[in-house]
Amino acid sequence: MSDLLEEMILNGAPISGGIAIGKLFFLETLLEEIVPEFSIPTTEVEKEIGRYRRAVLSSREDLHDLQRFLAKEGSTEAVSIIDTHIQMLEDPFMTTFMEKKIRQRMKNTETVFRSVMIDYEKEFSKVKDSFFKQRLLDVKDLSQRILRNLHPRKTLLTEEIPENSVIFTKELIPSSTAEASKGQVKGFITEIGGTTSHAALIAKSKGIPYVANISTDTLYPHKGADVIIDGKTGIVIVNPNEVTLEKYQKDFEDNLQKKGLEIDEGTDGTVTKDGVKVDLLANIENLSDLDLLIPYNAEGIGLFRSEFLFFGKELQNFAEEDQFILYQKVMNKARGMPVIFRTFDVGGDKGNVNQYDAEPNPALGCRGIRFLLRNREIFVHQLRALLRVSPDGDLRILLPMISDVGELLQAKELIQEAALELRSEGHEIADEIPIGCMIEVPSAVLMCDHIARECDFLSIGTNDLIQYTLAADRATQEVHPFYKPSHPSILRMIKRIIEEAGKANIPVSLCGEMASDPLMAPLLLGLGVRKLSCASRFIPRLRKMVTELSLPKVEKVTEEVLRLENADVIETVLKETFGSMLTDDGVCS
Ligand code: PEP
Ligand code: MG
Repeated sequence: MSDLLEEMILNGAPISGGIAIGKLFFLETLLEEIVPEFSIPTTEVEKEIGRYRRAVLSSREDLHDLQRFLAKEGSTEAVSIIDTHIQMLEDPFMTTFMEKKIRQRMKNTETVFRSVMIDYEKEFSKVKDSFFKQRLLDVKDLSQRILRNLHPRKTLLTEEIPENSVIFTKELIPSSTAEASKGQVKGFITEIGGTTSHAALIAKSKGIPYVANISTDTLYPHKGADVIIDGKTGIVIVNPNEVTLEKYQKDFEDNLQKKGLEIDEGTDGTVTKDGVKVDLLANIENLSDLDLLIPYNAEGIGLFRSEFLFFGKELQNFAEEDQFILYQKVMNKARGMPVIFRTFDVGGDKGNVNQYDAEPNPALGCRGIRFLLRNREIFVHQLRALLRVSPDGDLRILLPMISDVGELLQAKELIQEAALELRSEGHEIADEIPIGCMIEVPSAVLMCDHIARECDFLSIGTNDLIQYTLAADRATQEVHPFYKPSHPSILRMIKRIIEEAGKANIPVSLCGEMASDPLMAPLLLGLGVRKLSCASRFIPRLRKMVTELSLPKVEKVTEEVLRLENADVIETVLKETFGSMLTDDGVCS
């Protein structure tokens, strides 16, 4: 940051709290872009209609992918917003209308579509009601998506935005907000936008600061400049000088400290009122997530979703050496804390990998360990890279989607072979590298006594365990009412896993989204869970909850709850017993 450029302070409307420090990046919207316009002969009409239909289908696939990604992030609000987009897209009226217009106007699809959307926007703009204005933005969002699929180009948010960007744009559409990863996008500034817009709700649920009512024309000449935004006060500072920057950097860190809720001095980590230790670990998806470990006082990495490091790239082409360099960075940033590194969990909701593209039911397809055992070269490259960083800290290897003890045995053999080979090549490898299994498939729960005897730790993946046990897709909104973390079957499964791990004398952690819900914490402690792993930003509220609980009380409530047969009743009991410890936004009071 420089003192040479003049500092400019702008006052906008606060939308989503927090301080962001980064560089200004202008995001243009597709509707403002020039799309090709030309007439078509009658013979081309059906072809254009076919293009439109394919664009709608691809848009629907994009939205489903986005939903899965959001579900994993725990942004439930965002998942349901995207669901309304899918419904709008599936509206037969829209498709029939567009097809009719292409036939009538005899122009290319982009031109017809764009003019239909402009007419639609004109109609909508006359309406004063803010609910309808909100819908207009959703329509714009959808039309941009369809245009993008008609007129393929790289998607801006995932590919071109540099790290540490503060995005500025005229109006933020929900999907751009939803697609923004926190590593890349530090904050949002828009000219138009309200606190109740879908984009605002998504920004809040992702914890990304957002200020509206700032003119893009004012910011445009400063593209690429340093900027600070304060989402609580609505202040935007372009080209901050050293003093301002220091002040905001301090505020930013203080904020994190406050959120992190220091572990009390003299105590050994996070403990309940009656002194029971509970480890609060972080789920990590990319390198920038690692920067949150210290501010949020995570006590280790409970789940490193390694597949996200290579999201959208070809796993086959990931050389051992490239992986080694990445994993070294992870170990360095973990500074000796335990790192539970899960091998690639590809397939299913994580997206398909080339040859399995055509799986009719990916969630029940060649996912996780099944993929790895069938694609040994990919698996072995990853194992070798992991083993090579084992001397750099406390590395543990976690195997995804184990549904049979045989898979664990095969994987262990491959790990042993890789270790022998590496040692014979002169590499140093830690003497002991614990190997663990994700318990996220019902068969693994039933067989967990055998599994526990063959491995060093277990990790309960409730996201998948709930989906497979209750036969309810984790990312499909229509079946969301069936996807119940507090279902008695799930609680009984967790209890069984804890008991069997106890008999085998190995540790268990729980790393599904359920771990981030402070209302579930008493129940999980009552069931015997002592290690919870979730996105770092949820650790503070969990820590607060845990430190206010005492074991005899949670065990008594859990005993009662385990006698109940209905998930909704269980949830009511939890709310009645522990709800007063939470504020409206789910944070402990
Ligand atoms: C789970 O299934 O609960 C889990 C933590 O793994 P993922 O969400 O990555 O499938
Ligand atoms: Mg899983």
